[in-house]
Amino acid sequence: MAADGLRHEFKVVVVTGVPGVGKTTVLSELAKIAESRGVKIKVSNFGTYMLETALKEGIVDDRDKIRTLPLRKQLELQRLAAQAIVRDAARELGSDGVLIVDTHALVKTSAGYWPGLPRHVLDELKPDMIAVIEASPEEIAARQARDRSRYRADMGGVEGVRRLLEEARTASIASAVHYASTVAFIENREGKASEAAMQLLQLIEKL
Ligand code: ATP
Ligand code: AMP
Ligand code: MG
Repeated sequence: MAADGLRHEFKVVVVTGVPGVGKTTVLSELAKIAESRGVKIKVSNFGTYMLETALKEGIVDDRDKIRTLPLRKQLELQRLAAQAIVRDAARELGSDGVLIVDTHALVKTSAGYWPGLPRHVLDELKPDMIAVIEASPEEIAARQARDRSRYRADMGGVEGVRRLLEEARTASIASAVHYASTVAFIENREGKASEAAMQLLQLIEKL
């Protein structure tokens, strides 16, 4: 650990954004570009870690059902995921590495809006940066509707997404306070995911 427990040896970038904005898409572009520029990154999807435990317990069969579980169960999955992500990253990354966590600052659960980055998660991740991937509510709702591989109808269409975008922006800034993380807003323009990835990489290189 570096900086008196405020940072890990490797850098940590937490990537947030409302469902369907394109986080996972942008990060798969980033993985390609980073390699060609000699930046050592490990991308970990927070939801995938939660899903792994939930599947083992047989309580969901799909990642989009995690946010409908009883909130105490979601909290337990969240805690385990944060710990496992850091444990796995520490095995692979040294001081020249960057852990990128694909996640959410705010989750729209069946019990209400719920922070994806509360203090117990931040105590594990210790983010250098929180990046917020954004697009217009209309673009996001259209991407959600086009992507038949996922269920995102519970986000409430254009108006639901508009509201969530606003609340999630505030949640990212609130989470940044605990570990003095920078907050960067990155537009994922239509058909331009690799440009968003390039922008993110340029910010990462400044950390
Ligand atoms: P979730 O939080 O639910 O995992 P996400 O933010 O990771 O969502 P993706 O799965 O990456 O979102 O993208 C959602 C859909 O939008 C996918 O079908 C993807 O191909 C599409 N998409 C992503 N970025 C763009 C873009 N820049 N232009 C057009 N379509 C895009
Ligand atoms: P994703 O594929 O990013 O949409 O993640 C799948 C699901 O995992 C989300 O819909 C949430 O239910 C859950 N999830 C992801 N990140 C977090 C987090 N930081 N805190 C709580 N739940 C999360
Ligand atoms: Mg995703």
